[in-house]
Amino acid sequence: ATNLATGLTKTRKTWSQRWNEFMANFRSVDEDFFEDLEETLIKADVGAETAFKLTEELRQEAKLENAKSRDEVSRLVVEKLVAHYQTQGIGEDASMHFAPAGPTVILFVGVNGVGKTTTIGKLAARYKGEGKKVLLAAADTFRAGATQQLQEWGKRDGVEVIAGAAKADPASVVYDGVRAAIAQQADILFVDTAGRLQNNVNLMQELEKMKRIISRELPNEPSEVLLVLDATTGQNALQQAKLFKNSTDVTGIVLTKLDGTAKGGIVLPIRNELHLPVKWVGLGEQVGDLQPFAADDFAKSLFG
Ligand code: GDP
Repeated sequence: ATNLATGLTKTRKTWSQRWNEFMANFRSVDEDFFEDLEETLIKADVGAETAFKLTEELRQEAKLENAKSRDEVSRLVVEKLVAHYQTQGIGEDASMHFAPAGPTVILFVGVNGVGKTTTIGKLAARYKGEGKKVLLAAADTFRAGATQQLQEWGKRDGVEVIAGAAKADPASVVYDGVRAAIAQQADILFVDTAGRLQNNVNLMQELEKMKRIISRELPNEPSEVLLVLDATTGQNALQQAKLFKNSTDVTGIVLTKLDGTAKGGIVLPIRNELHLPVKWVGLGEQVGDLQPFAADDFAKSLFG
C-alpha cells in the first residue's frame, strides 16, 4: 500500500522547487515580495481566492512580528500554510459517518473516470477487512463496462454486487441494492452512480431521486454523499465540486490520483472555498492505495 508521503512525492517536489526558486529571488519583505508570493501560490494550485487570503494574512503577520529577514518570513509562510492545511473548516469532519443501526448507505458521485468505482473497490476491501458486511450497487448503468468493472472489484473483494440490466433505471438498481442490504442485514451499501454533467437539472433530479428511494426504505440514509474528484485535473476538479455542491448535499470529498500529480495543492481550496472535508485520498490503482485524509500528515508530507 502506498502511504501519504510516497503518494505526494510529485506534489512535494514541485512545491519545494517553486518555493526554492521564489526564495532565491528574495530581496526584502516588501510589496513585490507579497505579490510574487501570491503568484507562486496560485501556480501551486491553491486557487486564486485562497492565495489572496493567505497572502493577506501573511502581510498582517509579517508586520506584526516585524519579520524582515529571509528566514523569518520563510518560517512565517510555512507555518501559515501548515495551519491552513490543518484548520478544521466549517462543518469539517474527516471521519466516515455510519448509521447507529441497520445498513449505512454511502453514495458516490462524480464525473466519469475520476475513480468512483476504484474507490468503492478499495473501501469495500477495507471495511470487509474490519469485519463488516459490505454490499455494492452498480447504479452507473450508462457507461458501458461500469457494472462489469464494479463486478470485478466485487469478485476480488469477495463482496456481492447488485446490478441491473444495461441502461436500466439507476434508481431501480439503488432500490434493489437497499432491499438486499436490509434483507441481508448488511452493514454498508456502497452505491456507484453515473456522473453526467451535461445537464445540471438532470443531475440534480437523478441524485435526488436516488436519495428519495434510499430514505424511503431507510430513514436518515444515505449517511454520506461522497464526491470523487481527480486531483490531476487541478482547478477543473474545483469547478466540478462547485457544480455538484449546488446539485446535492455533498458530505465529503475523495481526492483520487494524488500519486500521479503535482497538483496536491488543490486540497487547500477544497477546504477553504467549498468547506467540504476531504475524507479519503487515492494514492494508486491497487486495493491498498487509499488513505483516510489527515490534515497534519498531509502538511507534514508536503513540507517535511
Ligand atoms: P469512475 O469512472 O469514476 O468509476 O473511475 P474508475 O474507478 O473507473 O477509475 C478511472 C481510472 O483511474 C482507472 O484506470 C483507475 O485505475 C484509475 N484510478 C482511480 N483511482 C486512482 C488513484 O488514486 N491513483 C491512480 N494512479 N489511478 C487511479
